[in-house]
Amino acid sequence: MDHDAILDSEPVRTPDCGYHKSIRAPEYYKADAREQTKLKIMAINRTPEDEQLLRTATKLRNECSYGQAQRLLKARITQGLTIDNPTGLTLLAEIAGLLIDIGSEGHNEQAITDGLALLENNRQRLEGFLTAASIDYNLGNAKSALADLRTPNLFETPGLADHDLLLAAKNHYWKALKAHGRKDHFAHQLRTNLANALRKSGRITEALTAYDEIINDDPAFIMAHFHRGLALLVFERLSRTRTPNLLRQALAEYELTAQATDARPAVRDVAITMRDRITKQLDDHGYNTKKIRTETNIGKSEAAKHSPYRQFTLHHHLALCEHSLYCHCNGARRDDLMIATSANTVTGDRVPRLELILNRLKAEFGTARLLYHQATNDDSWDLHEHEITFTELFEGEHVSTRIELLRTSFRLCLGILDKIALGICELYNVADPSEKLYFENFWQPPTRKGKASTRWNSLCAKSTNPSLVALYSQATDVRSDGEWTLFKTWRNDLEHRFLILTEETTPPDIFKARQGTFDTRCITIKEFTQRTLHLLQFTRSAIFNFTYCARNETASADDGKRITLTLQHKNREAAPRNPRPHKNRES
Ligand SMILES: [Zn+2]
Repeated sequence: MDHDAILDSEPVRTPDCGYHKSIRAPEYYKADAREQTKLKIMAINRTPEDEQLLRTATKLRNECSYGQAQRLLKARITQGLTIDNPTGLTLLAEIAGLLIDIGSEGHNEQAITDGLALLENNRQRLEGFLTAASIDYNLGNAKSALADLRTPNLFETPGLADHDLLLAAKNHYWKALKAHGRKDHFAHQLRTNLANALRKSGRITEALTAYDEIINDDPAFIMAHFHRGLALLVFERLSRTRTPNLLRQALAEYELTAQATDARPAVRDVAITMRDRITKQLDDHGYNTKKIRTETNIGKSEAAKHSPYRQFTLHHHLALCEHSLYCHCNGARRDDLMIATSANTVTGDRVPRLELILNRLKAEFGTARLLYHQATNDDSWDLHEHEITFTELFEGEHVSTRIELLRTSFRLCLGILDKIALGICELYNVADPSEKLYFENFWQPPTRKGKASTRWNSLCAKSTNPSLVALYSQATDVRSDGEWTLFKTWRNDLEHRFLILTEETTPPDIFKARQGTFDTRCITIKEFTQRTLHLLQFTRSAIFNFTYCARNETASADDGKRITLTLQHKNREAAPRNPRPHKNRES
């Protein structure tokens, strides 16, 4: 293996100070130019005293005089805020935003809860003239800041029973993103904060994917680089794998942030501390930190040599390969995700059983991914389309074998998620054999008999495993009150009812073929394709989380007495026709 050189040193810790500052928009309404204009008009009637108050509080916040700023704002609230006209409401919203900032930057819970209460109690009124996206964004920031106060260690994930704040923050960000619906600076800010919330929940694969996508859209968006640096270090802990390449990449992100002129001073300070710490670690272990640029170039040239299908897989974040999460070189050439690796010895009778489950997940996911690729990006298969005829009903449905590949890809993913639920039950022995299990609902507090009734408590006791919490957080996305419940709804319609793919949102239905005793759901091909990709990425993340969950639970103590059972790859990789370049590279 050319990618498992391990550094055995103390984990890197990011100092907490200044961390929160980075993720707040500097001003409450920076989000939307149209909205800003509207607000300026509404703020015209504000009294000179209130104008002065906001200026002073902002200045104090920027100078880190949080206590003074908070007292000033509290005094204004005590005087009474008007909520029956736009001028009063804009003032209220600005005060709320400032309090949330002050609280998260100054680690002051009271300030955050005061700001949060102002927003939550007046949400309906505020909705009349603010975008839902900016309200949810600020609610998400407030809840995420409260979660940070309760779990200040950036490498720790709150347990299942203590996860409500992070779940709420994540849901606000998802809502805001959906409502915003555009790719601009505010969207990058939103996606960065969502990625941070996912990272804190242990959902590291999705977080890394999100940072990559933001950086791809806007390479100069410095906060995505800064947080990607931390995410790589979190990934190293969750996966129990550390390569010099991974550390060098984290170093490069901190280097970039340290040099960014637009980064806030507090962010730059953290970046400099981290940069120096990682440099020292790499130096201590004799790894050359100057190699980053050469390595990136080698990685790029190797990435260009993958097969077109592998390039598609890597580009769309669909590889089941740990190295692919941060590098697309030769190390990402195949899906080699396993519970046990050469760097992580595992122990226990359950391991082969768990690997059997993982084999199943990988096989089904590989098929779902291939079908998606064939349906959207490749016409090399002869689908014999002309051998089937369909009746023209002028109802707008696209019906063909190619479309079936896409529909099957979608359905396979939900089946994989349900099998992950089975895998968790196997790992912790928390299921009745007769029980029908689904990914999203087996986490519910007890209502049934037998093992199911004590399951929630058994799982809560395992909350120190961040990847178990990550799976729970994913499950809350797809349950009936989650942001991605449409995955389940569509699946049920695909399996048991009628869901058809159309060009337009509401196509004509000349013969009323779509109407009957039950509805026929119409989804545009464009939306269905986008959602299928999202679902594939979501499923891939769940497979990683399951693997890390199992790896963590079965990790063997290094006592030197263990008996080793070696698991090998079933279909060994064929020897390369030409020797691979850079073979003696260390990462
Ligand atoms: Zn690599």
